[in-house]
Amino acid sequence: MNAMRREYLQALELDTWVLRTAPAAAGAAVAAASTSAAATLPDAALDWAALRARVAVCTRCALATTRTQTVFGVGNPQAQWFIVGEAPGAEEDRQGEPFVGRAGQLLNAMLHAIGLGRSDVYIANVLKCRPPGNRDPAAGEAAHCLPYLERQIALVAPKLLLVVGRIAAHQLLASDAPLGSLRQKMHVFGAARVPLVVTYHPAYLLRSPGEKRKAWEDLQYAREVAARV
Ligand code: URA
Repeated sequence: MNAMRREYLQALELDTWVLRTAPAAAGAAVAAASTSAAATLPDAALDWAALRARVAVCTRCALATTRTQTVFGVGNPQAQWFIVGEAPGAEEDRQGEPFVGRAGQLLNAMLHAIGLGRSDVYIANVLKCRPPGNRDPAAGEAAHCLPYLERQIALVAPKLLLVVGRIAAHQLLASDAPLGSLRQKMHVFGAARVPLVVTYHPAYLLRSPGEKRKAWEDLQYAREVAARV
């Protein structure tokens, strides 16, 4: 066992993944209006720049009227791991980057525990806009937004989707099964049948630190899946 893994397992025994100082604020999402050529294309045909531009000016649902800005996604566009969360929170809405609040710091620690940094993965949410008061996404909101995430997943073509939390898992798997029954299984997503593993949302782990051990098991399971596909 290497020193880093030992450090994190020890931290787990102490019931904490150590929260690190928040990374320097990333810049706000770049928002150029869609070019007239790309404007007629379906989401599934857009390249990164056109997709980002379309998301930045999206008005498909009412969240466009309450957001500060859209939160597109961040990370390595050639990543082997694609992390999917639920929706931006207040800090993400302010900074324009997913998982930069307290849950994001814990997500960073979880990734670190399996030897990954934020620059090794791609991170995006099901919703690109913050639901007011951090309420659960409404069905229509998720339906409007999912094509953006699907295109991001297709462009990255990851080896593995790691889906954090019940809401994102339900959206991607079209399931309403309890999260506990979705973990520790290899699911597949979309026509490309991308392997998909579910674990707890870091915000839930902050509220229920006793579940961190299960999340650690899920991360190890995800690593096994990624190694064999
Ligand atoms: N929770 C999420 O699901 N996504 C974020 O970006 C932040 C918190």
